[in-house]
This record gives sequence, C-alpha cells and structure tokens, in this order.
Amino acid sequence: MYNKFISQLEGSSSVELMLKAEQMRKAGKKVISLAGGEPDFDTPRRIVSKAIESLNNGETHYAVGKGILPLREKIAEKLQKENGILCTSENIIVTPGGKYGVYLAVASLLNVGDEAIVFTPAWVSYCPIIRACGGVPVVSHLQYEDNYKIKEENVIPYITPKTKALIINYPNNPTGKILSEEEAELLRDIAEKYNLYIVSDEIYEKVVFDGKKNISIGSYRSIADKVITVNGFSKCAAMTGWRIGYTAASKEVTDVMYNLYVHTITGISPFVQRASLEVFQCEEEIEEMRTIYESRRNYFTDALDELNGVECRRPEGAFYAWVRFNNARDSKEACRNLLDQHGIIGVDGQSYGEIEHPCVRFSFASNMEVLKEAIEQLKMGQ
Ligand code: GLU
Repeated sequence: MYNKFISQLEGSSSVELMLKAEQMRKAGKKVISLAGGEPDFDTPRRIVSKAIESLNNGETHYAVGKGILPLREKIAEKLQKENGILCTSENIIVTPGGKYGVYLAVASLLNVGDEAIVFTPAWVSYCPIIRACGGVPVVSHLQYEDNYKIKEENVIPYITPKTKALIINYPNNPTGKILSEEEAELLRDIAEKYNLYIVSDEIYEKVVFDGKKNISIGSYRSIADKVITVNGFSKCAAMTGWRIGYTAASKEVTDVMYNLYVHTITGISPFVQRASLEVFQCEEEIEEMRTIYESRRNYFTDALDELNGVECRRPEGAFYAWVRFNNARDSKEACRNLLDQHGIIGVDGQSYGEIEHPCVRFSFASNMEVLKEAIEQLKMGQ
C-alpha cells in the first residue's frame, strides 16, 4: 500500500479554495475571492528585471548547494540586523518557498512517533506536514476570548516525553496576532527547560501595523541553537509565484536539513535567486505595500465589525481578517452562506482548528474595490 502517513493527509483548504475561485471565474461565474493569502501586487519591477538579466546572461544551469553565496550572505546579514539572530551564510538554506522550509525543518527534527505542538488557530499545513513526516501533531487550542494569547496552561500540559518541537507562526495566519514579549519569553523559558526545538514561521514579518514589530524567537541566545526560523520573499515582496524562501538554524540542524535537501532539491533556480538579491534594495516598495495593506485593514476590518451579527478585531499583522459570523451555526455554514448568498469565498475557521466559534478568514491582499464590493454585498443581506 501507499505510504500510510502521506496517503491519509487531508487537502489544503486555502489551496483548494483558490482553485475553486479560479474554476468559477473560468466558468464565467462572478465571485469575490478572499480565500488565498496572496499579495495582489505585482513583484517590484527591479526584481523582475534582474531575473530577465540573469536569464539573458545564461544563468540557466543548476545552482547546487544551499543557495548562492551572495544571497545566503544577504539573508544572514538581514537576520542579524533586523531580527537579532546571530548567523552567517553557513546557517542559511534557500528553499522553494517558505512551505518547503517548514517541511525541511519538521522532517529533519522528528522521528516517527515524535510529537510537535501546534497552537490553533493555525495555518492549514502545519499538522499535515507533521503527519507526513510520521510525527504526531499535538494541538493546543488558544481561546478567542483571550485574543489567542499563549499562556503557560496552553503549553505545559501538552508536553510529554515525546515532545520534540513547538511550531509557531507570527504574525499569525489566520488571526493576525503578533507575538508579545511576554509570550515570547514564556516560550523561550519552556523550550529551554524542556529542551524543545521551535520552528518559527515568520513569513508575514514585514506585514505589521500600527508601528509594531514582530519578535523573532531565534534572537534569544539561550535557545538560538534550538530555533529554526523560516521566512521568504513571497509575502513581503509579492513573489508568491517565484517560490523562494529560506531557513536559518544552527550549523548542526542546517547540516541535517541539507542531508534531505540535497536529495530532494537540486538547488533553486539561479535566476530566481539572483533576482531575490534585489529584494534587499526594495525597502521603499515593501513599505509602500505595507502601508496599503494597513489602510485596507483599517477600512475592511472596521466595516466588517460594524455589520450586524459580525465581529472582527483589527489584526496586528499579516493580511487576514478573522471574522466571527455569530448567526451561523459553524464556520462551514458561514462559508456556504457567504458563497450562496453573496458570491464571496472565504476560508472556514475549522480548517484552522477553530471549532468553537463560527470564524471565517478573509484575505485583504485584494484591492480596495474588491473589498468595498464585498462589504456592499454583505450589507445587502443585513
Ligand atoms: N499561505 C497562503 C494561505 O494561507 C497560501 C496558500 C497556502 O499555502 O496555504 O492562504
């Protein structure tokens, strides 16, 4: 029979709904898709030009190794300067998107039967990735009423002798929460005491609002060797289609990850890597996109919150509105109503492990006209 871990995995709701929206559009149906977490902006021009230049220069061969040296050096420099993570190019692996970075980390840490704690609501792929690797996801559900704050009671009781790692994701997809200092210190102390690894997915790092900054847990020296930071350029530089991300970890963990990498990825496309070097020159463009996300957030989440029977808090980061539809029995029903009555596609909260409240995730990485249309549609049903 097929691999028992992989053959039983559930699908990815976000990917399936993105496909559904595409198919509906192709079939001529009008749909407002707020499902996929994908910037609507085009990749900054200078990045695109660099890729073309690189292709024209004949950079069309394998780029073997952990990633081209200048890119790994730039990433390490950025992590030191912006995130306080001590590292050099030796600690970096360039991956085909952040998602593969998470997989690489989890596959390299877990033995069959090892447990990894996932805090829900959580992105749809963490638990499947853990299962694919033969691990056991242990879900610790955070409370809506607490604004999904991580407290000691959300971690300690979930630790067993089999616990190997915690997976965290801040700014959070789907709740938009960023990690507070209090939570970061709690996780640090626990990881230290129980000798646990932390996989920290920081892909939405640059999409933060109200002047806030996300804390990188890998910056704490006492646990630096136990943290694998995953990041990439998809969200910050609108490069989802390029498939490029990276991991930063201790030399020891990086070597283990490279064992798997070298047999599954024969390097990342050289022209994609060369173009990604330009991301570090795009501070202005990145800030411009962030500012636009912030004004969309202000409009969209406030407008949602004003609707009858709807609750929506302002997210601190990422580009998702996490919306509670109080008149629906559960999030699946809320999503069905949204599509049937308003032609709007969102992702049901159950896909993220929120089963207590009828929450739906809407992406506001769509232009203002689309967001306004969604609000008008929703108002019609009031
Ligand atoms: N991460 C994005 C999302 O949550 C893209 C789709 C996916 O990989 O899940 O919508």
